[in-house]
Amino acid sequence: MGKEARKVSALDIKKLIKMLNAALSEEWLAYYQYWIGARLMEGPMRSEVEAELLVHADEELGHAVLVADRIIQLGGTPVINPKDWMKLAGCGYAEPADPYIEVILEQNLTGERCAIQRYQEIADFTAGKDFATHQMAVQILNDELEHEEDLESWLKDIHRLKEEIKKIRL
Ligand code: FE
Ligand code: FE
Ligand code: MG
Repeated sequence: MGKEARKVSALDIKKLIKMLNAALSEEWLAYYQYWIGARLMEGPMRSEVEAELLVHADEELGHAVLVADRIIQLGGTPVINPKDWMKLAGCGYAEPADPYIEVILEQNLTGERCAIQRYQEIADFTAGKDFATHQMAVQILNDELEHEEDLESWLKDIHRLKEEIKKIRL
């Protein structure tokens, strides 16, 4: 950590680094959740949604880069063993054992809602004290809000499609 950077510590840096390592672990798990879910997925709108899930996966990886770099700037060590991801992550990982598109999207949605809470928490913790981490958390938070909205709208479209099919059958 640089000399100026250390002055940031009007807050509990150790606690902040712990929160950031939880977020970093969650980003890697979210990356894999999207990446494997996109490949396994079956059902209506699959071909359209698949590409979008892979875009989300890439965005989660981008978040991991931001968070890991900030941990290093703060003098911490980003989680160095993948086996610790499950231990550190508060959001967990939902195994996509059922490949049906609605199930996959719901699992991703749960993850996004947890991520929103995580970055809200980090933004809150750093507000007015650590502007760099605060700005990063707000930036990522905005991406997660967009992800949540994407997932909700695809689920809505699938639901709509099912309703229309039901009408035709009646
Ligand atoms: Fe993310
Ligand atoms: Fe996300
Ligand atoms: Mg999107």
